[in-house]
Amino acid sequence: MNTAKVFLRRVCAAESPEQWGQAAQDVLEASQTLEFIRKRDLIAVKLHVGEPGTTTFLPAEVAAGVVRCIRAREARPFLTDSCVLYSGPRSNGAEHAEVAARHGFCLERTGAVFVPADGLEGNQERIVGIDGNHFREVGVAALIADADGLVVLSHATGHLSAGYGGTIKNLGMGCASRKGKLLQHSDTKPRIRRDACTACGACVEACPERAIMQDAQGIAAIDDPLCIGCGECIAQCRSDAVRFRWDSASHAMQEKMAEHALGVVRHAKGRLTFLLGLVNLTQDCDCMGCRSPIVARDIGFAVSSDPVALDQAAFELVRAAENQTLDKLSYPLLDGAHQVEYAERLGLGTRRFELIEV
Ligand code: SF4
Ligand code: SF4
Repeated sequence: MNTAKVFLRRVCAAESPEQWGQAAQDVLEASQTLEFIRKRDLIAVKLHVGEPGTTTFLPAEVAAGVVRCIRAREARPFLTDSCVLYSGPRSNGAEHAEVAARHGFCLERTGAVFVPADGLEGNQERIVGIDGNHFREVGVAALIADADGLVVLSHATGHLSAGYGGTIKNLGMGCASRKGKLLQHSDTKPRIRRDACTACGACVEACPERAIMQDAQGIAAIDDPLCIGCGECIAQCRSDAVRFRWDSASHAMQEKMAEHALGVVRHAKGRLTFLLGLVNLTQDCDCMGCRSPIVARDIGFAVSSDPVALDQAAFELVRAAENQTLDKLSYPLLDGAHQVEYAERLGLGTRRFELIEV
């Protein structure tokens, strides 16, 4: 059975964003996984610029470290991400670019500009054939598919519906077109328990799709066809009245995400690598527009040419530091490891890895 190499550069407590950027650059160079880059290639750096209100996304200086590596090879980097499903500034290309600039993802701080990956309205995609169990083809954001190569810069966090979000999620959900994201969320529609609802209305206000109605007593209910499964209502409800159907929804979404990740990797034909930030390890992903609690100590930056090995390493590194994996520290009812196991079964990579500290 194959074993993948995972390179790790540890960081100390309270290092600056500039030190994180240098750590990212050092581990990328040490990994020698950028050899696919040729002179003048247009290289996409797929990242997350952070939802407004979030402060724990990977700072622009980390992207700057990646950009320096690409420019050192005389290639042409650009920063990119796809539109989100829920309404808000990151749901269209123009405002997404504004958020990127406000959060420092600009030429001055990173050495590259942000270009939306799937156009103004999230509908520019390339269809890639795969041999999955849920899908025979998936939609990849056009610029990510069209680039000459890809550096996938991900942030390891907990996740409201997947339990864990890291490399596979950034590839599968983050690189998917809007249609692809909708297909991945098709099973993750929450339910509101009438007996637990206190009629406060917070979920109604938070729902980006106006999919929640209140009856005459103020008790909330979700209109399924309108719901995109974003999970905002779960985050807002203080009465624990809104829940996913944990039995099937999370596993199905993780599998669909892994199949979309497979589409991105297949299309790139080896012209990509993966960098994972194991810092600011928060309960929620960077899409939540609020401060999310830190659930584990900073570890460092890891690189691999195998996305499955990299996420498996994240599980094991956090467990070694905290006696518990990131999904269990964040959402104990969820099994975030399912995406990694399923991705391995799909042939996306291996969970067996050799850790090389640099
Ligand atoms: S936030 Fe929770 S308690 Fe408040 S209306 Fe919605 S479901 Fe009911
Ligand atoms: S998951 Fe909740 S907040 Fe999101 S669209 Fe559905 S009902 Fe609205």
